[in-house]
Amino acid sequence: MIDFSTKVKNTWCPGCTNFSILAAFKNALGELAGEGYSKDNFVMSAGIGCHGKIPDFVNINSFMSLHGRDVASAEGIKMANPNLTVVSFAGDGDAYAEGMEHLVHAAKRNTNITLFVHNNQVFGLTTGQVTPTSLKGYKGRSTPYGSPEEPLNPLAVMLTSGATFVARAWAMDMDKLKEIMKRAMKHKGFAIVDIIQPCITFNDTRAFFKDKLYYLEETWPTNDWNKAMQKIRENSDRVALGVIYEVGKPVFEEQI
Ligand code: SF4
Repeated sequence: MIDFSTKVKNTWCPGCTNFSILAAFKNALGELAGEGYSKDNFVMSAGIGCHGKIPDFVNINSFMSLHGRDVASAEGIKMANPNLTVVSFAGDGDAYAEGMEHLVHAAKRNTNITLFVHNNQVFGLTTGQVTPTSLKGYKGRSTPYGSPEEPLNPLAVMLTSGATFVARAWAMDMDKLKEIMKRAMKHKGFAIVDIIQPCITFNDTRAFFKDKLYYLEETWPTNDWNKAMQKIRENSDRVALGVIYEVGKPVFEEQI
């Protein structure tokens, strides 16, 4: 199998769940290469945040974008050369705060790119400020008395915006994450995988999610928009993992 590693020194906190996201991605690339995908055709972009270092650690073509602009960069790359397999990485602050406008329109257009969101519900690189997905009551540098806001449900926004592949994954289950990543990259159209990721330094949510996560059964009807929305908005004690929605629709770059 092709080795997608680089020799760049990794500066993530020891034990950070970014390591399992990185490993799952490299394994997914390796398996896709074994299925005929060309290593030289992969391109990744990333924004700003802890996740934003990930292109340093993967030996494929890459583009370091601006904060919140990684999806726009990925769209531009895909438009310039539709033959490329374009993957964008973002954090939850990156994707759901600064980058929300780009995100909604990329989903609406159904640009054929894949977005992996490292959703740790906190700005980690800047040492612990709230993001749109931070839980109500989160105490950090910008909310010492606890955040008064309800968290955004990003996958509900994505489904409403027109995304044709919507999935949720758990960063600490590397094998399942790899499978979901592969499926997302194979999807023709805009694919988003919201990867729930404890930030062990500033927002360790392992205990919070421990009894809430479960995988969708294999018979889940991924083409039913209404059921997908119900599942995404399920009560807060149950958090479904897996591919929640997947349909085929014309992609943007083939229509212009
Ligand atoms: Fe990982 Fe959090 Fe450390 Fe960033 S701050 S490297 S997300 S543990």
